[in-house]
Amino acid sequence: MSTAYDDLATRILDGGAATPEDALAVLQSPDNDLMAVVAAAGRLRREHFGNTVKVNYLVNLKSGLCPENCNYCSQALGSQAPILKYSWLSKEDTLAQAGAGLRGGATRVCMVSSGRGPSDRDIDKVVEMTEALKDEYDGVEVCACLGLLKDGQAERLKAAGVDAYNHNINTAESNHDNIVQTHTYDDRVDTIGKAKSAGLSPCSGLIAGLGETDEQLVEALFALKALESDSIPVNFLMPFDGTPYENTWELSPIRCVKILATARIVCPDKEIRIAGGREMHLRSMQATALHVANSIFLGDYLTSEGQDALTDLEMLRDNGFVILGMEQAAFEEIIAAHQDAKAHRVGAVTPCGSGGGCGDGCGGCATDATDQSTEAVEGSEHNPSIRRRGAGTEVPANA
Ligand code: SF4
Repeated sequence: MSTAYDDLATRILDGGAATPEDALAVLQSPDNDLMAVVAAAGRLRREHFGNTVKVNYLVNLKSGLCPENCNYCSQALGSQAPILKYSWLSKEDTLAQAGAGLRGGATRVCMVSSGRGPSDRDIDKVVEMTEALKDEYDGVEVCACLGLLKDGQAERLKAAGVDAYNHNINTAESNHDNIVQTHTYDDRVDTIGKAKSAGLSPCSGLIAGLGETDEQLVEALFALKALESDSIPVNFLMPFDGTPYENTWELSPIRCVKILATARIVCPDKEIRIAGGREMHLRSMQATALHVANSIFLGDYLTSEGQDALTDLEMLRDNGFVILGMEQAAFEEIIAAHQDAKAHRVGAVTPCGSGGGCGDGCGGCATDATDQSTEAVEGSEHNPSIRRRGAGTEVPANA
C-alpha cells in the first residue's frame, strides 16, 4: 500500500532530499501511521546499510569533575547525581576495558573524557592509548570524544590512528543557550570543523527531550546534515536526579521511533545510532527502532548502566541483523559465549572471589546477568541506573 511516507522514501531513493516540512510531517505523524513511517524509513536504512548494525563500545576515560554546566549531564558542574568520579584511566585499564567491549561484539571503541576540552598532555595520553589499541586489536576503529579541541589537536589524534571524533551539537542552535551557558553552539561547531579538517570522521548528534520544540528538533537534524556528520548519535534524555533536568519526561517509545525515523529521512545514508536512553525510553520498541536506525552502543553508557550485553546481541540476531564487519559465525560464537557465561553465573551459588565462589572473578554469580553490580544504585523506568561496573571500578564490564 502506498502512503505519503512511502512516496517520500521513493523520492529520496530516487535522489531527492527531504525538506524541513517532510521531516516535520514524519515527526508529527499520527501514532496510527507508525508502521508506515517505520516501513518508509526502513527502506532507506536497508538501501544504505542492509541488515547490518554497527556496534560501538564506550570507555569513559575520565568521569565527572567537569567544569562545564551542560544541564542534561550527570558529570556537569553542580550535578549531584551519585555517579562514579575518577580521573584518567591508565593505558592498561583502557586497553582492558576496550578489549572487553571488542570481545563482546563491538567493532568501534569510543574513548570519552569529561571536561571542557583536552590539554596537550591529555592528547598525549589518548595518542598513546590509541596506538596501543591499534597494535593490540586488529581492525579496531577508534573514536575520541574529549570536548572542545584547540588548533593542532585533531591532527595529532589523526596521526595516532584515531578514526573519528565525536562532539555532539546536542540541540538546535536556537535552543542551545537554554541547556548550557559555559560554551556556545559556535564553539561546538568549531570543534566539529577542526575534526573534519584533520581528516577525522565527524560524529555529531543530539539529545531529544530537552524541552525543544518539534521545529527545533528538525532544525538540529538539518544542522547535522549541513555539518556532514558521518554518524549521528541520537540520545534520549536520561533525567538523572541531582541535575536540572531531573523529573523531565517528554518522551514516549513511539515518539522516540518517530525521532529516529525523522533522522533517517533527513540523513538517509548516515549512521543513525540509538545512543543513551535507549532502554529507558524505547523499552519494548528497541527492536522496531533498529529497523530505522543502524547503530547502537553495546552494554553500559558513560555513567549509567545499559541492559546486559547478551540481551543487546540477542535482540540483533532475533531481528535478523548482523554486526557490521563481523562474520555470522563469529557473531554466533560471541552470543554462545555470553550465554555460557550467563549460565555459569546463574548456576553459581556463592559470589566469585569468596571462599566458595567459582574463583574466576567473572563478576557474576548473580541471579541474572543484569544483576552483576550489587552496589549499583537501582535504576527503573524513572531513574537511570548509575554505572558501578566497567571503567573506574574493579567489577567486570557489561560487554
Ligand atoms: S557534556 Fe561534557 S562538557 Fe558538558 S558537562 Fe558533561 S562532561 Fe562536561
